[in-house]
Amino acid sequence: MNEMSPLARPPRERKPDWLRVKAPTSAGFAATRELMRSKSLTTVCEEAACPNIGECWSKKHATVMILGDTCTRACAFCNVKTGMPRAVDKLEPQNVADAAAQMGLQHIVVTSVDRDDLPDGGASQFVKVIQALRATTPNTTIEILTPDFRNKAQAAVESIIEAGPDVYNHNLETVPRLYPTIRPGARYYASLRLLESVKRHDPRIFTKSGVMLGLGEERLEVHQVMDDMRSAEIDFLTMGQYLQPTPRHAKVLDFVTPAAFDAYAAIARAKGFLLVASSPLTRSSYHAGDDFARLRAARAEKLAR
Ligand code: SF4
Repeated sequence: MNEMSPLARPPRERKPDWLRVKAPTSAGFAATRELMRSKSLTTVCEEAACPNIGECWSKKHATVMILGDTCTRACAFCNVKTGMPRAVDKLEPQNVADAAAQMGLQHIVVTSVDRDDLPDGGASQFVKVIQALRATTPNTTIEILTPDFRNKAQAAVESIIEAGPDVYNHNLETVPRLYPTIRPGARYYASLRLLESVKRHDPRIFTKSGVMLGLGEERLEVHQVMDDMRSAEIDFLTMGQYLQPTPRHAKVLDFVTPAAFDAYAAIARAKGFLLVASSPLTRSSYHAGDDFARLRAARAEKLAR
């Protein structure tokens, strides 16, 4: 790689300027926080210490995390606490729907912790949340970001597909070589197959997946992940910079430059994704509502050709 390459990497001693964000202070931020508290809802924005929280919450965009705040896995990149989760909250589906209605959301993103302790991995709670949203706020489009449901019956995933979310997202997170250290409880090809099965069962559902960069992956490995995703007919790829939430988590090995993110995006588009979001601060739910509108427009344009 020569020094002029857009993929050139700066030294990693200090966090680069392009990752600096303002502290959240707006009235909109406070209102979103108050609403989440009043409905006893957990958000991945807070639990994952997302850098975009100031921007997203001031625009009333939050990603709700269902099935509690405690995960049964311990991925090396993730800030969500690990342990034995509490019982599933029966009021949660309606609380999510009421919050979406109160915020007037056009698009909602719902995710969850991994619940390997539950027989269906928590799939039935996703179904109930989708049903409550459809009944309470029928014009809100629904994006779900699910666990991999590894070692659970295929019927669990099929029940979610049948509930009809508009977007089904599951993140591959990193390249297969790094799974044993970064995502030890998961299997790369199982995650790919999950997304492939969503598309096979209902091609109308947009499928979406993302990777974090900066964990030591090589450029050609990222290209291979893109090819694998296209083979599984994934519509939308997101790529963002991994940030180490605490010193106990996996180290950042590279701060990938904005130019390098643009170069990856150009390659991904050439590989045929309907939509690509790629920048240091991209997260899978960042600007999800606007991106959903773009996805729909891109599909309509493709079908018109
Ligand atoms: S990018 Fe997603 S997780 Fe981060 S603050 Fe925005 S909505 Fe929350």
